[in-house]
Amino acid sequence: MEDKKHNTHKEWGKSTKAVRSGLNRSQFGETSEIIYTTSGYAYATAEEAEARFAGESEGYVYSRFGNPSVRTFEERLASIEGAEDCRGTATGMAAVFASLMCQLKAGDHVVSSRALFGSCEYILSQLLPKYGIKTTLVDGCDIDQWKKAVQKNTRCVFFESPSNPTLEIIDIASVSEIAHQVGARVVVDNVFSTPILQNPLKLGADIVVYSTTKHIDGQGRCLGGAILGRSNWIKEELVPFYRNTGPAMSPFNAWVMSKGLETLELRISRMCENAIKVASALESSSNVARVIYPGLKTHPQYDLSKQQMSSSGSIVTFEIKGSREKAFKMLNALEMIDISNNLGDSKSLITHPATTTHQRISQKERDILGISETMVRLSVGLEDPKDIIQDLKQALKNI
Ligand SMILES: *Cc1c(COP(=O)(O)O)cnc(C)c1O
Repeated sequence: MEDKKHNTHKEWGKSTKAVRSGLNRSQFGETSEIIYTTSGYAYATAEEAEARFAGESEGYVYSRFGNPSVRTFEERLASIEGAEDCRGTATGMAAVFASLMCQLKAGDHVVSSRALFGSCEYILSQLLPKYGIKTTLVDGCDIDQWKKAVQKNTRCVFFESPSNPTLEIIDIASVSEIAHQVGARVVVDNVFSTPILQNPLKLGADIVVYSTTKHIDGQGRCLGGAILGRSNWIKEELVPFYRNTGPAMSPFNAWVMSKGLETLELRISRMCENAIKVASALESSSNVARVIYPGLKTHPQYDLSKQQMSSSGSIVTFEIKGSREKAFKMLNALEMIDISNNLGDSKSLITHPATTTHQRISQKERDILGISETMVRLSVGLEDPKDIIQDLKQALKNI
């Protein structure tokens, strides 16, 4: 068994890595991964305990620091992403927060794209400033704004691409170049792309964060997150923060996520196939004012999306003709698609961002972001695409 432990080959394709990487079989040779539900670890001797605490001997110390089931997930995701190392976290927000907070201090400056997930927006524009960290929000699609915003003390640059819910595409290579000129690190929230469709580290980013709650679980069961980057950065900056502040992932959730990774590519490619069909069908509906999907030629950054993503993702955002009432009426008329703010699930889910995920940001900020009262965000699932389209059509007809 020994020689097959931590089975990870660099030359494997993504699908093989998704199934095989990080495998750490016990003496029983079980085919499925084990869930190591333990908080602590016993040592053969006091000397061994001392050596483990000193980091001189390999092995686990406490599950807040690391756990074999969590490690399987971390190694598997790191190998798919093409990252040197990974740490699993309890939620996506724990990953975002730890990835920033572990490397920032009072007096530092952060530049971020304005188009953000609601809680990311809270961390950047409300929480960090409380600790003396200044943030500048820019229109992420405008390269000149990034150039103007970075300054000598800019330590981090943060963005999502595609962004939530307006699906703006940010030029990862160009923004990374600008950030690196002032010595800032680039943190990308890659949730909407997933490790299957886009790998920001290959485009010049330094750190990638995920909410694994979304496509990686993809079946609505568990919350989770992950932070990926260079081994040195993880060891020197992230690990001290991670070990002492406790955002660790639970072994059970890590096991669910490892199994989620096994089918991720299959699910994502089917979701992308479904999403383009749904987006095209919505474009031809007379009750739809506008469809935003990176795979449609009408998307303002269609060419850039083709360059940095291998396919266009599972999220389709569209605006209904009329008012908020019309949008609500349409949601309420759906017979199959669920009204839910989650995304990346095997079930198609739809939400009205202005009154849910982006309710807490000001009207002014919503206007700047283009999150209108008639906008809905659809996470296309794994149902038969003709049933998804049929449900949308009958609901749109009713308004
Ligand atoms: C959901 C989400 C998060 C937060 O993840 P949780 O697992 O809910 O904490 C962060 N960023 C993006 C883009 C998301 O969609």
